[in-house]
Amino acid sequence: MPQATISLHNKEFAPYLPEAQITAAVRDLAARINRDYAGQTPLFVAVLNGSFMFAADLLKDVTLDCEVAFIRVASYAGTSTTGEVKEILGLQEDVQGRHLIIVEDIVDTGHTMQAMLQQLRAQQPASVEVATLLIKPDCLQHELHIKYQGLAIPNDFVVGYGLDYDGLGRNYRDLYRVV
Ligand code: 5GP
Repeated sequence: MPQATISLHNKEFAPYLPEAQITAAVRDLAARINRDYAGQTPLFVAVLNGSFMFAADLLKDVTLDCEVAFIRVASYAGTSTTGEVKEILGLQEDVQGRHLIIVEDIVDTGHTMQAMLQQLRAQQPASVEVATLLIKPDCLQHELHIKYQGLAIPNDFVVGYGLDYDGLGRNYRDLYRVV
């Protein structure tokens, strides 16, 4: 059972999705990936920091031959036309001709995913799909095809299971939402 309300910095968070529900969603995603990629050797590209717990649990249920890479996305101010620029950092692997599965904690507006997909596709992988634990459908501002979606949630700020509020909260097994 999730514990009662938690305090992180100056905010209170109430129990939202318990570990059992998250685990069930992660297992379903892994089972679908196992079926869809049978006979292939995909490269999972996990986006740090938020996806570390999701990636670990997902990969424990993946029974394929596969590789795992970890990347970060750096955001900085671009020109007035480009707005905020998001750049992939840390990808050492040659992704050309590979089947990529991006592993993300949450898709909110989709800006980050849109930028990542663009940069990865430019490196000519054989295919790219996205596995996200959480998605906020009401917030999406891009036409993105997200094949593997764990749980759809409303437009609330959530923490736990790898997701943080200003650095805190990543270590909780359950998900909490701001009150
Ligand atoms: P997007 O580019 O889709 O708007 O945002 C994606 C990023 O915003 C996520 O990778 C995550 O870092 C952050 N984010 C969006 N919604 C939440 C949320 O509810 N909780 C936390 N902790 N981070 C969020």
